[in-house]
Amino acid sequence: MALTDIDLANIDSKPFFKSQVQHLLNILYTIYPEISVYLYVGNGEHGFELQNLPTNETHLFDIIPSDVPAIVDMLSAQAVESSFIQNQANSAMFSTEPDDWAEFSVISPMGEPAKLLGFLLTIFPKELSRETVSLTVFNDVAASVAANSITSNLLDSYKDRSDHLSVMLEVNTHLNVAATKTDFLFEITRFGKYFIQFDRAVLVLHPENTPEYFLIDSIEGDEKDLQQGMSYPVYNSLVSKVIISGHHFIYKKSNKTESEGIYRTGDYEDYPYDQVIGFPLVKVKNGPGVLVLESSREYPVKQSELAIFEMISQSLGAALTRFSLYERLNNYATIDTLTHLYNLRALKQRFEEELARAGRYQNSLVVLFLDLDKFKLVNDTYGHLVGDFVLKEISQIIRDSIRTSDIPGRYGGEEFVVIMVNADAAACMASAKRICAAVREHPFEVNEMSIDNKISIGLSEFPRDGETMQDLIQSADAAMYTAKRRGGDQVVKYEKGMVPKSRA
Ligand code: GH3
Ligand code: MG
Ligand code: MG
Repeated sequence: MALTDIDLANIDSKPFFKSQVQHLLNILYTIYPEISVYLYVGNGEHGFELQNLPTNETHLFDIIPSDVPAIVDMLSAQAVESSFIQNQANSAMFSTEPDDWAEFSVISPMGEPAKLLGFLLTIFPKELSRETVSLTVFNDVAASVAANSITSNLLDSYKDRSDHLSVMLEVNTHLNVAATKTDFLFEITRFGKYFIQFDRAVLVLHPENTPEYFLIDSIEGDEKDLQQGMSYPVYNSLVSKVIISGHHFIYKKSNKTESEGIYRTGDYEDYPYDQVIGFPLVKVKNGPGVLVLESSREYPVKQSELAIFEMISQSLGAALTRFSLYERLNNYATIDTLTHLYNLRALKQRFEEELARAGRYQNSLVVLFLDLDKFKLVNDTYGHLVGDFVLKEISQIIRDSIRTSDIPGRYGGEEFVVIMVNADAAACMASAKRICAAVREHPFEVNEMSIDNKISIGLSEFPRDGETMQDLIQSADAAMYTAKRRGGDQVVKYEKGMVPKSRA
């Protein structure tokens, strides 16, 4: 779409905001499939107003007044953090309250303690216990929704400048689909050149884990005198100043008076560019990074051009935040926290994918079902913590004994499943025997004791022992149970007539 194709009369930034919010909420729906999340935005003194999102069924009032206990608590809290609330005590928020909901909800404020933009309210199904809810996830999502809402408000404040707005909206669309930081930067330079003339755009990041340094993340344009991956101390430079203060800078060679350099002390001498402008990615002190635009000639920069870039860089900031949030949250949703293997949900998803592939290309697929022998005894004798330690070590043994293309997951408490693709049954049998022997020989050392463990493994093969995930797991489980009955500590390949424990 070209800039001129945009229908200026019908431009509305809300759909962008909504699609970004929906993206974010989908993360929550992936992790907790049965929840309902509602977004409320502050409405002056009238309380908070429900925002319609496609996934909402309305069980809540359109407006929640500020005197409901949970809202009072949230407004007077020192920090912006998600918390559990009792539905009963806050029944003034619910227009209906179905029986199948839990008695608690989670409220996640957005914005800063003194001026809240709004909040997310999440309702849980009855089966879900509080212990399995990670408030961190809700904090992260709420913070990201807030960042997107700031961008959207900025967009709205520029509504009267339809030429600028159209560009902003297009930049936003592209930021939404850009897959990498380099893509982001490319889009920004492509559109940015429409406003500010520059020759090089540099994305500077200030990672949370190295607060004393910032680094050059990507460069669009000539790389002379600057390299991707280079890091500089946050000290005495114009870029540092943006990071520390959250305000933009403009450097012009002709009226250079300050002692700072651009990226580091003194680097303005022989600097290849005459004019450099830096914008914070988020307008906060100690923010996540800076977008730097460098031109080989000086020219007067208009206030409106600065404003546009301020917005573009903040869109970039919001998009980058979302980007790393996805990475982090995706882990919550797919990795088992104790063993760091795939959790059941992710395992099943990978299983279905591999099964479809195996069916399509007639590839082989082998399933191992593993269950520790007499593991209850370990717990009963040494306690649960030692049991957990054993499970961690076992998962490392499994990882070490299989190929990187194999998919190991935690199926249940002390049960594991490994999916092996593109290897014949004999090679998989060998891997399984390797796991079995490694567990038998491994000294599980705790408190100067060495505990012995053994494991039983069943093996099934697609399509011989089943064509669906369920059948293949059941066959491998039946073979595993046969291994147990034969004394454990061995690998058994499925044969017709073997039954799983549940049917024995
Ligand atoms: P066998 O498999 O040889 O028949 O005997 P078992 O004692 O291993 O029996 P079973 O597989 O039925 O027992 C599972 C035990 O695993 C029950 C529980 O004590 C333990 N367990 C399950 N999940 C966990 C966990 O997350 N941590 C710890 N420490 N123990 C667990
Ligand atoms: Mg078991
Ligand atoms: Mg067991």
